[in-house]
Amino acid sequence: MSTQATEEFAPIGPDADVHGANLHARDVSAWFGRRKVLDRVSLDMNAGTVTALIGPSGCGKSTFLRILNRMHELVPSAALAGEVRLDGEDIYEPGRRITETRRRVGMVFQKPNPFPAMSIADNVTAGLKLTGTRVSRSGRDELIEACLTRAGLWKEVRDRLRQPGGALSGGQQQRLCIARSLAVEPDVLLMDEPCSALDPTSTRRIEETIAELRTQVTVVIVTHNMQQAARVSQRCAFFLAEDGAPGHIVEAGPTDVIFNEPTDPRTADYVHGRF
Ligand code: ADP
Ligand code: MG
Repeated sequence: MSTQATEEFAPIGPDADVHGANLHARDVSAWFGRRKVLDRVSLDMNAGTVTALIGPSGCGKSTFLRILNRMHELVPSAALAGEVRLDGEDIYEPGRRITETRRRVGMVFQKPNPFPAMSIADNVTAGLKLTGTRVSRSGRDELIEACLTRAGLWKEVRDRLRQPGGALSGGQQQRLCIARSLAVEPDVLLMDEPCSALDPTSTRRIEETIAELRTQVTVVIVTHNMQQAARVSQRCAFFLAEDGAPGHIVEAGPTDVIFNEPTDPRTADYVHGRF
């Protein structure tokens, strides 16, 4: 498959107004109990860039994402080595608060998970309680509109903000989850197969949303859909766990290079569906 960056995902010029943080993983290894599942993964995920993580199931992509926002350590048997820096600061530095990292690095999961009985509006602001952020009533309304707009959902729900989140379609629920993530003003948005449970039209809407978000927040997305990786990302990392060995990055680089002229034959095989 050849790839051609569409206009919405064209490279950002040097003068562009880009927000988001630079996230750097260095020699990250991970274990569940005695089993090593990631081996010395290093990757730069920069502001203004959508980075796609690709590779077969079980090669540690989700584990790697969860290390980037300190969710990995919630598993009792989990262990970790290496370094993750967010704009230069080590997120695992002793004494650094986990809630600070969680606010700055948001996560959207495969299965849309809004609070189903909670109103659409309250879903958007639900994360503020967790991070202890206070907003005035008028500020709250503005925030709800701004986040729903950024998530591409405002026009569809502006007249039904009091309806429960669970009343929305799957694709709308996923965009509501994106709006909820944005409400705490993260620097990085991690997305773990955000479209796997969605139909093609909803998938396209999420991809458009990602295109809009790219200059506002650093995006890292796991996807099994190679066309999606080619469409939405500017950089790509190919993960592999061969013969029970821990997952590692075979090759990372600009998306067009990974798809059109990869260095490693295994990368070419994977992106062309020969796995
Ligand atoms: P991917 O997202 O690429 O499919 P994962 O990160 O989910 O891969 O999993 C990597 C490996 O870690 C797999 O072998 C999986 O079985 C194992 N694993 C994932 N989560 C856990 C867990 N909570 N406890 C034990 N093993 C796990
Ligand atoms: Mg996964």
